[in-house]
Amino acid sequence: MDPLQALRKTLSQLCADVMSVVAPPVCPVCGAVLVRGEEHLCAGCLSRLERTGYASVPGNPMEQRLERLLGKHVPALALSVYTHGEVSGRMVAAFKYGGARTLAVYAGELLGEALQASGRFEGYHALVPVPLHPSRQRSRGYNQAAELCRGMQHTCGIPVEELLVRTRATRQQASLGRQARLQNLQHVFAVRKGAHVQNGRYILVDDVFTTGMTSATAVDALYRAGAREVAVACLCAG
Ligand SMILES: [Zn+2]
Repeated sequence: MDPLQALRKTLSQLCADVMSVVAPPVCPVCGAVLVRGEEHLCAGCLSRLERTGYASVPGNPMEQRLERLLGKHVPALALSVYTHGEVSGRMVAAFKYGGARTLAVYAGELLGEALQASGRFEGYHALVPVPLHPSRQRSRGYNQAAELCRGMQHTCGIPVEELLVRTRATRQQASLGRQARLQNLQHVFAVRKGAHVQNGRYILVDDVFTTGMTSATAVDALYRAGAREVAVACLCAG
């Protein structure tokens, strides 16, 4: 390392140390000050993340739901059960509504580790984030699913390809009945112009899996464009 580089490194370490005294980083879930060795989440919250165990279970409830919606089997995994007010729910809220972008990357690393450890998701060509409508992405500043993908790539090594676009905004799903939700999502996703999807094997990535309709619609768009196989990975399912 040349002297200038060494000086820069020392100064940036010094700045980080000063910042950690002035405004110490806190756990976005419980608010505890993070200690050395803790990154993004405190050790307590990390250990309380509710694991579904879906990753290693063929025919898990996510896969059953997708099969009912799509009429075909789709391998699927989730890291955590989404329970509002509990650890994973608060973690998602922090990066979805609280601007905690690097937390989404970190959560993606956890999801990528689960995917890798399951041994059921091998030979896929790319991770494909569920896209946000451009207007929502502008107001949030980023797409949390794309940030999850970046983290996943760090730990499972599968590249990210933003193959899908959202062609129109959707109304908030939670307030709609099942039939209205289906209509709301029809033709919402399309493959990006010029993207080569033919014969590819993809893992669709989203933050939350509830009714499964968003995932199913995006999976369907990839199959219609000629994908050979599509799996689904979501951080939270419930
Ligand atoms: Zn915590």
